[in-house]
Amino acid sequence: MGRQTSKRYVKSPPRNFYFPSESDEPLIEDFIGLTVAEFEAMRLKHYISLNQKDSAENMSVSQPTFSRILDKAHQKITKAFIEGKDIRVYGGNIDLKKGFKGYGCLNCDEEWEDELAAKERKVNCPNCNSKKVYYLVREPL
Ligand SMILES: [Zn+2]
Repeated sequence: MGRQTSKRYVKSPPRNFYFPSESDEPLIEDFIGLTVAEFEAMRLKHYISLNQKDSAENMSVSQPTFSRILDKAHQKITKAFIEGKDIRVYGGNIDLKKGFKGYGCLNCDEEWEDELAAKERKVNCPNCNSKKVYYLVREPL
């Protein structure tokens, strides 16, 4: 027989108990936007359950960088829960259903598609010209 769990009290329950992410016409205009990189970090670490090292390698970033991206995703999702906001994934003109290959910028969160994107290519962010750019590729949904 399993141990009985003690009652837990939540002082301020979230207003949103579901995420209408499947909806084509979301009713909530006020939403929290996750970048493709943040979405990918969550997927690798918490959905596929890779460890941090493998997750970082998958995105071709260092572990501290991966950790930073994941932290940002956690902060945004926590904010969405607390403030009862919808969550959406955004990023340039990216069609997630077709998959994505390109780069993301650690400095300004800009993400852009590039058919010729590769790990070794040195590129600057088109938005802020930062060199802190990481290679980003994900499978089609
Ligand atoms: Zn940038």
